[in-house]
Amino acid sequence: MDMQTSFLDRLFDAGLLIDTGVDGLYGRSGRFEDVIVAFERLIDRFGGADGAEAMRFPPGMNRAFFEKSGYMKSFPQLAGTVHSFCGNELDHMSLLKCMEVGEEDWTKDQKATDIVLTPAACYPLYPTVAKRGPVPAKGALYDLQSYCFRHEPSQDPARQQLFRMREYVCMGTETHVTDFRQSWMDRGVAMMKEVGLEVAIDVANDPFFGRAGKMLANNQRDQNLKFELLIPITSVAKPTACMSFNYHQDAFGTKWGLAMEDGSVAHTACVGFGLERIALALFHTHGLDVADWPESVRKTLWG
Ligand code: 5GP
Ligand code: ZN
Repeated sequence: MDMQTSFLDRLFDAGLLIDTGVDGLYGRSGRFEDVIVAFERLIDRFGGADGAEAMRFPPGMNRAFFEKSGYMKSFPQLAGTVHSFCGNELDHMSLLKCMEVGEEDWTKDQKATDIVLTPAACYPLYPTVAKRGPVPAKGALYDLQSYCFRHEPSQDPARQQLFRMREYVCMGTETHVTDFRQSWMDRGVAMMKEVGLEVAIDVANDPFFGRAGKMLANNQRDQNLKFELLIPITSVAKPTACMSFNYHQDAFGTKWGLAMEDGSVAHTACVGFGLERIALALFHTHGLDVADWPESVRKTLWG
C-alpha cells in the first residue's frame, strides 16, 4: 500500500475524514473542522489588521463570468459544470426509463445551467469589483473563502475534488500588489512555524492543459509569477502546496476592466490557503489525536 492510501485509510479509521465512495470527496468530522476553524482564526490574527473587505460567495459561480475568465482555455480538465433536467413530462418518462434500464447514460440530456462550480475562491471577485468602478489609488484588499471544485479524483487525501480555499486578493499598482504578496510569503512561513510545520517556499506553475499549456507554465515560472509554500504530507520528496502566492500582473485587470482612479490598469495578486491541506499537514505531523499535539501548537490554535 502506498503512503497516500495508507494515510487516507488512517484518516477514515480515525473518523477524521468520512468516505463517500468517491475519491477526493470526503465528509469531515467535527474534530477535523475544529482544526480548520482554529487555523482560520490564526489567519485572521495575521491578516485581520489589514482591513480587507470580507466577501463570501457560494461554491458555484455565474457561468458567463467563468466563460469570460478563460478557464476553459487553460484548465478544461479541471472544470465542473452544473447541469439540470429541463424537459417536459414525456422527457421525464424517458429519463426514468433510461435510468431503470441502465444501459444508456441518463445524464446525456441534462442541460447546462447558468452555474458552474467555483474553481478558485477569487474567481467571482474580479467581475464584482469591476462593476463598482475604479480601484482606489491606495489599492483594495479582499478576504474570501469558498469551497472550490477541481476534477482530479485521487486517493491522495491532499488532492480533493471539493476543498476550501481561503484567499486574500490585492488590487493596485505593481509595487502595491507585489509588496502584498511578499508580506504574505513572510507571514505564511511565520504562521506555519508557530504551528510546528516544516515548510519550504518554491517557484511553481499552474497545471495548464496541453502542449500550449507547457509554454504558459514555463513563462509563469520564468517570471516568478507563482510561488507555493510546501509541507510534506504524503511524500517527503514531493511536499504538498498548502499555500500559493500568485501575481497576475495586469492580466486580470485588463480582462475584467479593473482601472485605477488615474485610468491605468490595476495589477492584482492573490494568496490562497488550502484549508484541508493545512489541517492534513497538522494531523500528519503532530498525530491524529489533537490532544497529543505539542502544547505550543495547541496554544497557538486554541489559546
Ligand atoms: P492554486 O489556485 O494555487 O492551484 O490553489 C490554491 C491552494 O488551494 C493551493 O496552494 C492548495 O493549498 C489548495 N489546493 C489546490 N488544489 C487542491 C486539491 O486538489 N485539494 C486540496 N485539498 N487543496 C488544494
Ligand atoms: Zn486567487
